Amino acid sequence: MKFSHDVIVIGAGAAGLTAAGGVALFGLKAVLVEAHKMGGECLNTGCVPSKALISAARRAAEARTRTRHGVTLAAPQIEWSGVHEHIHRAIADIEPHDSAERFEEMGVEVLKGRARVTGRQSVEVAGRVLTAPRIVVATGSRPAIPPIEGLEDVPYLTNENLFDLTELPEHLLIAGGGAIGMEMAQGFRRLGSAVTVVEPGPLMSRDDPESVSVVRSVMQDEGVVFVQGKVARVDRHGRSILAHIDERTEAIEASHLLLAVGRKANADGFGLEKIGVRMGDNGIAVDARRRTSVKGIYAIGDCRDGPRLTHISGYEGSNVALEIVTGLPTKVDYTALPWVTYTEPEVAQIGLTENDAREEHGDAVSVVKERFDDNERAIADGDTRGHLKMVLKGKKVLGVSIVGKNAGELLLPFTQSITGKSSTFALGSAIVSYPTRSEISKAAAFSAWEPTVFGSLPKKYAALVAKLRRTLA
Ligand SMILES: Cc1cc2nc3c(=O)[nH]c(=O)nc-3n(C[C@H](O)[C@H](O)[C@H](O)COP(=O)(O)OP(=O)(O)OC[C@H]3O[C@@H](n4cnc5c(N)ncnc54)[C@H](O)[C@@H]3O)c2cc1C
Repeated sequence: MKFSHDVIVIGAGAAGLTAAGGVALFGLKAVLVEAHKMGGECLNTGCVPSKALISAARRAAEARTRTRHGVTLAAPQIEWSGVHEHIHRAIADIEPHDSAERFEEMGVEVLKGRARVTGRQSVEVAGRVLTAPRIVVATGSRPAIPPIEGLEDVPYLTNENLFDLTELPEHLLIAGGGAIGMEMAQGFRRLGSAVTVVEPGPLMSRDDPESVSVVRSVMQDEGVVFVQGKVARVDRHGRSILAHIDERTEAIEASHLLLAVGRKANADGFGLEKIGVRMGDNGIAVDARRRTSVKGIYAIGDCRDGPRLTHISGYEGSNVALEIVTGLPTKVDYTALPWVTYTEPEVAQIGLTENDAREEHGDAVSVVKERFDDNERAIADGDTRGHLKMVLKGKKVLGVSIVGKNAGELLLPFTQSITGKSSTFALGSAIVSYPTRSEISKAAAFSAWEPTVFGSLPKKYAALVAKLRRTLA
């Protein structure tokens, strides 16, 4: 069979861009298909707009404490149109990194259109048939819409339309107290909205409860209201929305409703089921190499069953690219997986939380805790909220949880402690939380290796593997 390409990548978010760019830099013929916007969720409706909103909110919060350290600031004057402009400028400034032009320069063919998988080695886009021995599915996820009675009759927000709001919500009711719900709750509260978070379980349930309790109390002090329960029913009430929590008689009246209750994988409706790709609980079922149940088809990032974050998508993209290029198995390794919730103070985690470590290793686990009120930089900054908890088995670090100012920037050294790898190559291929300034350290280490990794010898080897695959497939 003559193939049109070596690799077809579906979806141009963090996962697909990394996979397509990775194989193309080794000289493979790659095509990247995107139905909507280059950059996917992170750039357009996720990390970038949310962090831009958070930075505007931080300015407002800082100015609200009028006099601090002998310096008096003017009270904040918040104009939503300015915040909106800042959010969309941040997106526009980053757009070129993810643009079709940039990836075409790397040698990727970029196609606009919705891809439909028509066979184990074939994909159709707007009537054009593409064929390749390897297909990488990177179609991402969408906001999960919970079964709330009356939802079809009220306007609601998700991350897909939140950043297009033309006015600041008077009272934002957020269903869901996960990372997204918490970040947006503090952000909108600081910008002047009344905010209520409704969550039936623990807030930020993946994180260390002791760390979460610090941020919860800060947010409560700032005026965020937390309600334990589930939004069961919603009604329209003039221009407002009435949210009924569980069986409670008194409803909460809000001007806007934001749904932040989780994600649903984009795994169906584009042909995978028809060719027998197996599904998991929430997404495409994959093994540790991100192979699906159908030979030659991989699934990476948010669309497969498993954890969802930009740096995870990027990591899986480069892992799968490496496997395709070298022909050697590359399993994902999440023992040193970091993640950060960008509230203030930030909550940052790498590896196992104390609870998870105790479940896995029982009494062998010990915890060391240091508080920022003993840290002299924190004292000089006048911000000593928070702590660092190191979870150990003997002297081996299993995980670290930090809550405090810029906590996300403090994780990187623990990648080395957990993996035991400290070379420049290890740093260049470490999983680093997105978006953090720490990524610059990884970038520098990677740059040091770039000429070697993408040198002529590896490219010749990759060409040989690709030729063999085309002949044998
Ligand atoms: C509000 C918010 C804040 C977030 N903040 C952070 C953060 O700070 N840090 C972090 O690490 N993560 C964050 N995330 C999560 C992060 O956005 C996702 O994990 C990440 O974007 C997933 O990347 P992906 O490439 O797997 O999928 P996506 O970025 O969703 O890309 C998938 C692409 O596939 C395209 N597509 C789908 N189906 C087809 C098809 N059939 N044909 C062609 N194209 C198709 C889609 O249009 C999309 O562009 C946040 C998410 C939200 C919602």
